[in-house]
Formats: sequence, structure tokens, C-alpha cells
Amino acid sequence: MGTQSKKETVTCDGGAYNGHPLVYLDIAKKGSVKCPYCSRDFTHDFDEKNET
Ligand SMILES: [Zn+2]
Repeated sequence: MGTQSKKETVTCDGGAYNGHPLVYLDIAKKGSVKCPYCSRDFTHDFDEKNET
């Protein structure tokens, strides 16, 4: 808590088939955030490779 050295935002552009303008989502507030464009859920994990 209180550390700002890490990136606390995620970016989403919807990917290849669900594309939308690039948005920056503040994940620090709740630890998770849902993209308002494509409803993709991001959690405070930053493991973007863990996709199915
Ligand atoms: Zn999105």
C-alpha cells in the first residue's frame, strides 16, 4: 500500500476482433476493473499471458 512504483493501470484495445480505442483502466482502485468497451475483466495480476 502506498507504493507508486508499479504500474497501476492496464490498457485495453479489445484485441484483434473486439477492437476499440485504446483505453487506460485504473486497476489500483479496486484491484480489478472491467473494460467499459469490451467488458473484459482485469485483475491485479498483470499476467497478461494467462489468457485462454
Ligand atoms: Zn476492452
